[in-house]
Amino acid sequence: MSLVRIPRLLGIVNAFLVDEDDGLTLIDTTVRLGGPKAILAAAGKQGRPIVRIALTHAHEDHIGGLDGLVAELPGVEVLISTRDAKLLAKDTTPEPGEPADAKFRGGFSGAKTQPTRLLEPGDRVGSLEVVAAPGHTPGQIAFMDTRDRTLIAGDAYSTLGGVATTAKPNPRFPMPALATWHRPTALATARALRALEPTRLAVGHGRTIENPGAAMDAAIAKAS
Ligand SMILES: [Zn+2]
Repeated sequence: MSLVRIPRLLGIVNAFLVDEDDGLTLIDTTVRLGGPKAILAAAGKQGRPIVRIALTHAHEDHIGGLDGLVAELPGVEVLISTRDAKLLAKDTTPEPGEPADAKFRGGFSGAKTQPTRLLEPGDRVGSLEVVAAPGHTPGQIAFMDTRDRTLIAGDAYSTLGGVATTAKPNPRFPMPALATWHRPTALATARALRALEPTRLAVGHGRTIENPGAAMDAAIAKAS
């Protein structure tokens, strides 16, 4: 598969373009200021339209560009998990069964845009399979490319300052862990994603890692 990383803010936050038969799937939108312009330029370079936007979770640095992009892309599909759609609408009431010690952290600016389709684990988005990845937010999802097992993990892992889970702050880049809703759940997710044996790990913060198994194992061990 062709995966194009679009780094913003000096590489601190990423969006991704995934090639599909009918056009491009954009994963996440980075930030409001400058994000849409950079993303549209990257899609333009590929000469193909963005036909859908799929969001890993509702944090501001992932959904900030959404409204601006939707204004430029009439008819684009907008996909997010059912759980994080509530956060996209700025509704932070807990759901029954969620851990009592969980707490919303990080920025939830919300968006005016309403999703056109709500995702559940097991759903398909083009070639991507939706994988549950709760913990960083309650409804975070990851995307596994069924063509080559590239895993787009949102903030379940970060690679800036070294591969890390969000279950324990990485001293060299603590932000994703500090913005995490429930760390024990994030650790369980890190293990579950590792067990999927991805061939490539693409994340919201940091560069993409090839053959990430050993690095993911080390990150899990650090947080355990
Ligand atoms: Zn996040």
